[in-house]
Amino acid sequence: MNVPFDKVTRAQRISLVCKVCGQPFKRDVIEVSTVNPWNRNPDGSVRTLEEVGQYVDALLTASLDRVKKKGSVCRRCSAMPHGQPTNTILSMLTEAQ
Ligand SMILES: [Zn+2]
Repeated sequence: MNVPFDKVTRAQRISLVCKVCGQPFKRDVIEVSTVNPWNRNPDGSVRTLEEVGQYVDALLTASLDRVKKKGSVCRRCSAMPHGQPTNTILSMLTEAQ
């Protein structure tokens, strides 16, 4: 039987500047967790819905910090070979047509 667990989702959209092309873009940082028998507090007790909410909040905060510190690459650049400036790729694409 498939037991439906209560799911907690936290999402925040942040503004970043692409490390490759320098263009500003937005990215959704999302963290999800469920209330389930394996989701436990450090003391071993099963997390309640409220505690899972706090846990996911902490995960999201950590993820936001990580993304902001590490920086990110916009969707357009992430689909391209690493380190190639966008303009170079675009002119290559134009020439190929
Ligand atoms: Zn970019």
